[in-house]
Parts: sequence; C-alpha cells; structure tokens
Amino acid sequence: MRMIDPHLHLDRMKGKEVETLSMAGVEGAVLPTPHMLQWMVSAETLFRMWRMFLDFEVKHSASLGIKVFVTLSVPFYGLDTESVAEALKAMPGYLDHPSVVGLGEIGMDAGIPDEERLFRAQLAIAREQGKPVIVHTPTPLEPQAVEVCRQIIKVLESERFPMDKVVFDHTGRASFRDRIDTGAMVGLSLCYDKLRPEDAAEIVAEYPQFRSQLLINSEFGYAADGYFSVPRSVLSMRRLGLKRDAIETITWDNPKRFFDLDID
Ligand SMILES: [Zn+2]
Repeated sequence: MRMIDPHLHLDRMKGKEVETLSMAGVEGAVLPTPHMLQWMVSAETLFRMWRMFLDFEVKHSASLGIKVFVTLSVPFYGLDTESVAEALKAMPGYLDHPSVVGLGEIGMDAGIPDEERLFRAQLAIAREQGKPVIVHTPTPLEPQAVEVCRQIIKVLESERFPMDKVVFDHTGRASFRDRIDTGAMVGLSLCYDKLRPEDAAEIVAEYPQFRSQLLINSEFGYAADGYFSVPRSVLSMRRLGLKRDAIETITWDNPKRFFDLDID
C-alpha cells in the first residue's frame, strides 16, 4: 500500500524511527509547524524552526526514504504580540520555498479572541497566496471540541475562504458531520489523545460516500506505537476487508491531490 502521512511532527522523531516508518511503507509526509511553542520565544526562533524544517528535515528524511513537504504557521501560543506581527510579515517570503505546500497548523483551540484574530490573519495570507491550510481543532476529548469546531467553520465562511483548500484535522466522531458537510477535507488524526487506528478504519468503512474527503494522519502517534498510525490504520482497514483502491484513495491519492504534492 502506498502511504503519505499528511500531518506528521517528524521533527520530534529520531532518525531510526523515520527509517522504520519508511520501511513500513510511508513514502511521503507533510510536516506542519506546531500550533504551540514554549513561552516567550522570539520571531527569530520561529524563523530558525522553519529553516530547520526546510533545510534539514526535508533532506534528512529524503535520505531515509521519506519525501517531506512543509506547512508554515505562526503558532497560537509562544510568541508575544510584537513577535506575532513580525512573523506574519515575514511569512509570505518563506512560502515561496519549493517544499512549502501550505499553511498550518492554523485554527483555534480554546476559541478565544486572540486565537481568532491570528486565524483570520493567516487565512488572509493563505488566500492571497492560493495555498491550502491545515486547520488545527481541539482534540475530540476537549469539552469545547464541537463548539469551537463550529466557530472555526463560521470564521472560514465569514472570510469566504475556499473550502476545497481546507483540511480540518483532529476529527472526533461528535464533530464529524459538521466538518464533512462543509465539503472540506477531514483529517482523521490517530494520536494518543485523538482517534485510534481502528476508529479511522471504521469511519472509512462506514462512510464510503465521503472517501474523497478523508485523510489519515498520525500527529504525534498513538501510545507505544509512536508514529506508526498510518500503517496501523492500513492494517485495520485490511482487517475490515477494505480493498487496495479504497485504502489508497485515502492514504495516497487524497493527500497528493489536496496538497498538490510533487511525488510519484
Ligand atoms: Zn499537529
């Protein structure tokens, strides 16, 4: 089975883990800028992180068999107000890099005005540059998940942001229909605080009509299995009797099309 992991925090992985993931069949990945950094770092710290992703992670992962693409964002937390403004100003210059395929993680978690302002500012940049966005939403376990997810959808609608350029990540069952009904892509994030690989397989089996809208990603991975959520979900889908075409629509065709990835 061909696999791309379209939301993998690969910078947190050890080289050996990247190699094992590659041997498990993951050929491509999208490395997003996380929605949160440690407190009080400067804009320059963020720029260094972007450059590390683009100059180091892309090449290092390629040497281990995984073609990595990057999305950039200004994290919701970690920068003071001045640094946020500086980072937003500098971001368009970095978006021209050939390995950058979009913005993300942008979005909201607690749903507070600070987050919403930053979300709108980053949507404006994405729209200007015609880039897709990875939208972070609260984890399914957080009590505000459904409410904030609806708030995020309202922001996207009020900004008239094209839904075909949106993937809502960190989907839970409670907010699944709200997300899918927008026509956007829906990311099933298989991670210790989100869905399990078996949940993703069940959702894929349950909603054949939505398969062109689904992505499966690993975020930080699930429990002791580390970052192997996508290969595990493939195993779960095979156990449910899903055929290769159906599986690869989700693990290969959809991420390649959505992010317009230069991978063959
Ligand atoms: Zn993430």
